[in-house]
Amino acid sequence: MTAQHPRDPQDLAGRHITVAGLGVSGVPAARALAGLGAHVTVVNSSDGERERAQAAELEALGVTVRLGDGDTLPEGTELVVTTPGWKPTSPLFLAAEKAGIEVWGDVELAWRLRGPDSAPWLAVTGTNGKTTTVQMLASILKAAGLRTAAVGNIGVPLVDVVLGEGREGGESYGPYDVLAVELSSYQLHWAPSVRAHSAVVLNLAPDHLDWHGSMEAYAADKGRIYEGNTVACVYNVADPVTEDLVRAADVEEGCRAVGFTLGTPGPSQLGVVEGILVDRAFVENRQQQAQELAEVSDVAPQSGKAAPHNIANALAAAALARAFGVPAAAVRDGLRAFQPDAHRIQHIADVDGVSYIDDSKATNTHAAEASLAAYEHIVWIAGGLAKGATFDELVRRSVARLRGVVLIGADRALIREALARHAPDVPVVDLDRTDTGAMSEAVRQATRLAEPGDTVLLAPACASMDMFVNYNKRGEAFADAVGELTAEDH
Ligand code: ADP
Repeated sequence: MTAQHPRDPQDLAGRHITVAGLGVSGVPAARALAGLGAHVTVVNSSDGERERAQAAELEALGVTVRLGDGDTLPEGTELVVTTPGWKPTSPLFLAAEKAGIEVWGDVELAWRLRGPDSAPWLAVTGTNGKTTTVQMLASILKAAGLRTAAVGNIGVPLVDVVLGEGREGGESYGPYDVLAVELSSYQLHWAPSVRAHSAVVLNLAPDHLDWHGSMEAYAADKGRIYEGNTVACVYNVADPVTEDLVRAADVEEGCRAVGFTLGTPGPSQLGVVEGILVDRAFVENRQQQAQELAEVSDVAPQSGKAAPHNIANALAAAALARAFGVPAAAVRDGLRAFQPDAHRIQHIADVDGVSYIDDSKATNTHAAEASLAAYEHIVWIAGGLAKGATFDELVRRSVARLRGVVLIGADRALIREALARHAPDVPVVDLDRTDTGAMSEAVRQATRLAEPGDTVLLAPACASMDMFVNYNKRGEAFADAVGELTAEDH
């Protein structure tokens, strides 16, 4: 239990603590701190209807809330607890730094509030695949009979989980044997003392660079997840930067580096041999032996076909579970029982021999490339807000699979230009509209381009907010449009 000294929650009683931001992690943090007897002030730049409702809820607990000013550090602040969205360069943090005041993220706070009986963390980060992997991991752990949950960045605040763990009954969480914890790069940035049992960085591609400042800073924040691991640091063999991050980490004596690969695994790796997921890391004689875990077809039983990136996610989840001592059969059972969330390679329908797949969650080029790699002949629906991305590489790598492309959204010209450079022979329909109804037309046009056996794939490589409230709504619009096709057909 070295390096795991939780701060006595009593230490926070009576202290003046500023919480930066409301929302899904700020509200639980403020509530928890007030419950521990701290004097809490929440600052939040925006001042809308939702913020006022959240403020009223907190004020009833004795929390002071300042809406409309997120820059000024309240007088007398002894500690700042921040929610993940705030940039490190925010004036509030600069003021805190100048005054020598510590800044903790919500995850750091949760870590410090853990009790002696708190469950160990199996932690997951990466540019893409985090949510899928923690859900697969939780499913495997449950299949092994362990009490667990997928928590953290997935939408379950760690502060609530950790404080609920020790309590019986009520609306408390737990008790747990182990937690499957999703951590974002933002959360890791502000969580210097978190020490996971084992952890994985799934992959690293440029994303959120405006927040972190550079690719190096982004990678370094992701790499923090390995600090102080006790049993295994799991890395992606196909993404050597993840292995570099393991090497750079300061881990506990005896902690091992374990790779996962879609190819044949070497010693201390998990991989795939002839359609079987195998473990050459957590076996007695890893030079000679491999343990069969599951079949590739166990990874996505409901859609009938496992996308390569989901096999990679499954291997990463299996590695963490095996590091925790889970038997091979539970890996198979957990993967079979796993149900992916909506809008992540979700099979919507087959119409006239064409398969319609919703991967609206592919909001960056790295994610879209992974989903394009999963199908042979594709009519690709893409476009939206590019967030500064370029599309040349994505198009170059996917051109052989493209039957046609339908472009929607504000930044579609960027994709059109990349297609003109690298895929001049692929037919492109450029829908010159960004209204919500454009999705129906996009699906109709895609259907026109598709041949029996093809896949119409919504994998926009862009954010959705130019046309939709969020990626969920974009995916729903796609499913509705496919529904219209079926209705027309029958
Ligand atoms: P996150 O929580 O990191 O956003 P999700 O599991 O929600 O990840 O998946 C987001 C999208 O990223 C999916 O829709 C899919 O297109 C893509 N994706 C998932 N796993 C991977 C992976 N291992 N590598 C590349 N892309 C992936």
